[in-house]
Amino acid sequence: MNNYNTLKSAIYRTFSLVLLIIVINSEGKAQSALISNYQVYIGTARKDNIDLVILRKFSKNNQDYFVLVDPNSLDTKISFKKECNSIHSGFDEVKNKFAESPYFRSLNESKDSAKNIQDAGITHGLPKEAGINLTIDLCPSRHPLNSMIFTTLINTFQNIQRPIPVAIAISGRWILEHPRDLIWLKQLQQKGDINICWINHSLNHKFDKNLPLQNNFMLMNATNVKNEILGNEQLMIQNGLMPSVFFRFPGLISDNDLLNTVYGFGLITIGSDAWLAKGNPVNEGSIVLIHGNGNEAIGVSKFLNLLISKKTEEKNKSWLLYDLRQSLEEEFKNN
Ligand SMILES: [Zn+2]
Repeated sequence: MNNYNTLKSAIYRTFSLVLLIIVINSEGKAQSALISNYQVYIGTARKDNIDLVILRKFSKNNQDYFVLVDPNSLDTKISFKKECNSIHSGFDEVKNKFAESPYFRSLNESKDSAKNIQDAGITHGLPKEAGINLTIDLCPSRHPLNSMIFTTLINTFQNIQRPIPVAIAISGRWILEHPRDLIWLKQLQQKGDINICWINHSLNHKFDKNLPLQNNFMLMNATNVKNEILGNEQLMIQNGLMPSVFFRFPGLISDNDLLNTVYGFGLITIGSDAWLAKGNPVNEGSIVLIHGNGNEAIGVSKFLNLLISKKTEEKNKSWLLYDLRQSLEEEFKNN
C-alpha cells in the first residue's frame, strides 16, 4: 500500500511538473511570438456595443488581430479579428461615417494646421485646462533615460493625481537600445504611478547635423516613410506598448507631403507650443515638450523648476497634468 501511495504521488508530482513546464512554455512562446503581416487595414468594427475604427491588421501565433481606435475617446486597443464584428472599407467611407467624432475632427485639424516646416500638427490642448499636457520625447540616445523626470513627478503629485498622465514619443532605436529603461517605465505604469500615452516618434529618427532642415529628419533623401511609421508601431506592440493614434515628427520637422502621408495612416500629428529648451512660455493647456533621453538637460531643469513654481496650485489641485487623448476628446466633441 505504501509503495502504491508513493508511486501515486510520484506520478502526480511528475504530471504537475509536466503541466507547469507546458504552461511556462506556452506563456514564453506567447510573449516572444513574432508579429507578422503588419499592415494598414481600414474598416469598422463593433465590440462590446462600441463602434470602433480598424486601423491595422497583423498576425501572431497563427491568429489575426486588429488595432482599433474608439473614435470618441481616442483610446486604442488590440483585439482578435474573429471577436470583432468587422466590415472592411475605404478610409473616406469610414471618415464620412465618423466625420463628427473627436478622432476624425482632430485628424483633420492636425493636417490643416501646417504652416511652417517646423511644428505642424496639434500644438495646444484646451486653453481652459488649468495645467498642461506633458510630452516626453525619447529620440535615439547614448545616454540612459532621465528617470528624475518621472520620480519627481510621482513625488510631486503624491496624493494629488494618480496615475499621472504623460505622453511619451518613442523612437524604435530608443526601444532597441534601452531595454532596461523601457521595463522600468512599464513597471511605473503597471504600479499605477503613471498612465502613458505612447506616441510614435518614427523607427530610426534619422538626423544629420550638417543638413538643412528641409532635407533633414524624415525629409532626408531615401526615407522609407511607411517603414518609419509601421515599423515602429510593430516594434512597439512587440514590446508590449500600445501605440496611440498620435505621431510626432522627429525634430518636429515635416512638409505638406509628409504631413499628408502621416494623415493617410490615420495618425494625428502632435506638435508643441512649449518646447521648454527653446524658451517657449508655458500656458494653460500647453502641449509641453521635454526630452527624457538625457540629451537636453536644460529642458528638463526648466520643467522641474516649473513643477516647483506651481507648488501651491498643485497642492490645491488647480494645476494638473492632462491626458492628451482626453484633451482632444473634450476639444473636439460636439457639445
Ligand atoms: Zn526626437
